[in-house]
Parts: sequence; structure tokens; C-alpha cells
Amino acid sequence: MRYISTRGQAPALTFEQAMLTGLARDGGLYVPETIPQMASADISALAGLSYEDVAYRVMRPFVGTCFGDSEFQDIIARAYSGFNHDARAPLVQLGANHFLLELFHGPTLAFKDFAMQLIGQLFQAALARRGERVTIVGATSGDTGSAAIEAFRGLDNVDVFILYPHGRVSEVQRRQMTTPVESNVHAMAMDGDFDDCQAKLKDMFNDFTFRDEVRLAGVNSINWARVLAQVVYYFTAAVSLGAPHRPVSFTIPTGNFGDIFAGYIARRMGLPIEKLVIATNQNDILHRTMLSGQYRTSGVTPSISPSMDIQVSSNFERVLFDAYDRDGNAIGQLMDELKSGGFAISQGAMEFLREQFTSGRVSEEQTSATIRAVHAQSGEILCPHSAVGVTVAQDHLGPTPMVTLATAHPAKFPDAVEAATSIRPGLPEAMADLFDRPERVSRVANDLGELEEFIKNRIRT
Ligand SMILES: *Cc1c(COP(=O)(O)O)cnc(C)c1O
Repeated sequence: MRYISTRGQAPALTFEQAMLTGLARDGGLYVPETIPQMASADISALAGLSYEDVAYRVMRPFVGTCFGDSEFQDIIARAYSGFNHDARAPLVQLGANHFLLELFHGPTLAFKDFAMQLIGQLFQAALARRGERVTIVGATSGDTGSAAIEAFRGLDNVDVFILYPHGRVSEVQRRQMTTPVESNVHAMAMDGDFDDCQAKLKDMFNDFTFRDEVRLAGVNSINWARVLAQVVYYFTAAVSLGAPHRPVSFTIPTGNFGDIFAGYIARRMGLPIEKLVIATNQNDILHRTMLSGQYRTSGVTPSISPSMDIQVSSNFERVLFDAYDRDGNAIGQLMDELKSGGFAISQGAMEFLREQFTSGRVSEEQTSATIRAVHAQSGEILCPHSAVGVTVAQDHLGPTPMVTLATAHPAKFPDAVEAATSIRPGLPEAMADLFDRPERVSRVANDLGELEEFIKNRIRT
């Protein structure tokens, strides 16, 4: 199994190389050269298996010969052992033919743990075998950073630096990043918004001198191994609702297009997914693109679902690559145009995108109203991101079961939940002292040179 860049100018890599590299050297993202197929009988055979066993069968073909069979099984077992629910990703019924896939039972209470816990174990195994070390730098709108720090803290071969937009993450998110005591993790509060953080991260990857000097590795949602880990729960959810014998639809609260792209991969592998619905908050570039065929950025407006306050959806490049028949040059050109504000998508590519996805956008008021209504009707307390998903899903209910992804635990966003329901959701017991732990964080400027110095001065050698 080989991985190729969406811009067509970087060398093809193995799974392990693509994972350790993150962003391709031509600025593109790695995607598998071919998508492994699961036949109907293979999907039927997943019924009744543990989450870990499904994960093994779904991911194994993508990994190639990089990890041995039992080594990979052990890695998966370790990755999910810290989850707080035996099913790992339980399904809860919300209404007639509408289900919620709870993805927030991991150690930092958001779906990012599914990918990050796995990637932590994969990095550790690969680096120990190679006798190498790396510097992980990540940009986060809140949840990726806490999940990355949780997954990599204390590892010998890794230093972790997380950039988050100062003042724009929730207090629980911030404390999850600033309270770990391990000296290999560094929380950096940067002036600007999430897109600024993401842009600086990209600049560091494109500064090859720095990149090679510190052995930069990326674990943002552009990392293929993260997308792969997220493919698994589409299978467990669909199979428990009758796949492959009946189709299932999914609605996905979307920011960087990672989670929904994983659903698209599941469909390409053969899982019968009827609809894949993009749900955005007021930062709705993806919804506008689906309507207009124009991918154009505008400023980010902070919302009560901050993990989706994004204008440039990195992983969208991966689906564009398929929409343009895997023409890396065409994608390179579009991404150049994006630097000056946006691009028009060709008619053929838009037809492809509209066959694969539908979309909806939710206002702040609607998000609160849904949190309130779902609590009143079912007792389930949604986080604001999940509420964006549920609101959009309600427009797409029908004879096919609909699964909405619940991407975070409500206690991660207690202010928004309390404003909607008058209930302040409490943290799970393991995290109950989060507000008593001392914080450690550095304020940093939105300046590439300063950021690189900061990192160089703190990595262990
Ligand atoms: C990251 C995140 C999202 C957006 O996911 P993408 O894969 O970036 O589209 C939605 N909700 C929560 C809680 C998140 O942490």
C-alpha cells in the first residue's frame, strides 16, 4: 500500500512514512493510491465483534507491511484501553430512525481521542524501532491539542508543541492542554484565530531547513493515520443498524473536513452509506461551497461551537483531489488561488461533490434551541457541535436510519450548555480536579521566526 500526494509532486510513501511526515513536501496531503475494498460478506462478518476487532479488520489493509499483525493488534488494544465505555463508540437512539454516535468517551472527551490515542501508540512503536525522535507541532481549535498532549505526554522519542488561538478555546479545553506536568509537552497561546495558527504550522512545514533540523512531524487532521482511525466507527455504527443489508446515513458536524472525509472513505471501501451530510455552524464555507461552487474564505466569527470555527478546511483538498480525477496539478493551482481568497470549482467536480455530500448550516440560536429541545425530549445533553449536527440531520430524516456524530462531551462546553438548558454538565470523575491543577502555558506572537526559535530552544536532543 503506497500513499501519494494530492499535488502530485512529492514521492510516494509507505503508511509509516506518510504518518511520520504529515504534510507532503509539495504542500499536498497524502492519500492511499488505491482504496481497499470490503465485500458485503466482510462487512457482515463484523457484526458482534469488539470495537478493537473491527478496527483491526478495517484498518489492516491500509497499513501494509509497516506493522506486524499481532503488533498492530496490540497497538489498537492499548489505544482504546483508556476509554470510559466498553463499546468505545456507543449508539444512543434520539428519535424515530435517528441515532447519536457518542464519540466522547475517550480521555479528553472529544472524538479526536479515537485517532490521537492510536497515533500515539503507532508513533511510539515506529520511532522506537527506528531509534529516532521527532518534534510534533500541532495547531488546534481546542480538541486536537488536548488529545495530542494526552496521547504523547511522557513519551521518550517525542516533543510536543501545540499552538492554540489565545482566548478562543473553552476553559476545559485550555486546562486540558496547560495542566499536564510532563516536560515534553508545551502549550503555546498564539495571538490570532485558528486559521492563523494553522497557517503558521503550514509555514513551518514549508521551511525545509527548520523542518529537517527539528525533525518536524504533524498530527493535525491532515495526517492520514488520523483519518484512517476515524473510518472505523462508521463501520461499527452502520453494522449495528443493519449494514451491509440496509443502508445508513450520517450527519457530521464539520470544521476541517476530517471526520466527514473518513465517512467518505468508509463509503469508498464498500460500506452502504446513503447520505453524508455536512453540518456547519455560522462559519459555513463548506455549505456555501456546496451551494455556489465557489470556495471563498471570509473572516472567522467565534461561535459556541469553537472547534468548528474554521474557514480553510484542510482535508477538503483530499476530496477535491478525487473530484478532479486525481489531477495533482489542478489541485496545486486551486491551492495557489486560495492564497488570494478562493477559487471556483469546475462543473464536473461540483457534480461529483454533490453526488457524495449534502450540507446544512446552523445559526447560534438554532444550536441552543436544539440543545434545549433534545434535552427536553430525550434527556440527552448535547455539546454545541453535536447540536449543530442534530439540527441539520433533522432536515434529512427518512426511511434510512440517520446517525449524527456526537463529537464532544457536553462538559467540555459547559457555558453554552448551561445557557441553553440551565444545567451545568459536570466533568467525569477522572477529570474532576481539572480546575485545581496549576497551568503552564507560553504566550507567543503570530511570527514564524519567533515560533521556530521557541521550539528550537526547547526540544530535547
Ligand atoms: C474537531 C472537532 C470537530 C470538527 O471535526 P473535523 O474533522 O475537523 O471536521 C467537530 N466537533 C468537535 C467537538 C471537534 O473537536
